Amino acid sequence: MEIKVIKNILEANEVIASQNKRLFEDKGVYVVNLMGSPGAGKTTLLEKTVKHLIDKKRIAVIEGDIATSRDAEKIAAHGVPTLQINTGGACHLDGNMVRGGLKEFNFENIDLLFVENVGNLVCPAEFRIGEDDKVMIISATEGDDKPLKYPLMFQVSSLLLLNKVDLLPYIDFDLERFRNDAIRVNPRLEILTISCRTGEGLDNWYRWLEEKINRKRD
Ligand code: MG
Ligand code: ZN
Repeated sequence: MEIKVIKNILEANEVIASQNKRLFEDKGVYVVNLMGSPGAGKTTLLEKTVKHLIDKKRIAVIEGDIATSRDAEKIAAHGVPTLQINTGGACHLDGNMVRGGLKEFNFENIDLLFVENVGNLVCPAEFRIGEDDKVMIISATEGDDKPLKYPLMFQVSSLLLLNKVDLLPYIDFDLERFRNDAIRVNPRLEILTISCRTGEGLDNWYRWLEEKINRKRD
């Protein structure tokens, strides 16, 4: 019985996510669903990315958090349309929550919609919101064992950003093992190593993102 209920929730979500996706397709908006644990660096990455792209691309942001509008305030300070969704306890965003916020934006004037999911390594991976790509960010301090312990998020992501690589000399993190395990759970996964603190590797991320946006616009 339990299993059936969960299945129906996911099916209902698929329908709404597909409707969202159709809207984004119509308007030529490229949509990223950014997922990762609390503290992985999602908001910091977003701030850096907005700063880098703001003169070239028209950006909008949805911030998903259980409570507070702190992240949205940080992003809005960079002058892009930003919406905070408070899930009020729910540990992920779903298609319906995102749909509820779409009327806040004029998608005629937007190239990129960035959705920062609730900090959580588990269920954000189960819910589509209408995105083009799921991007996962994980910090090296979380440990190199995560691909095998939390395989679903690695499986559904197009791109994996390993953040805080400037700390690698100080921690026990086997980069080779991490890469191999991640590729084993998802052979199509692209992996980039970055440090939002030092800026290392961020150019590769910007290039990846801009290519995706441009392809959607063509
Ligand atoms: Mg955040
Ligand atoms: Zn959840």
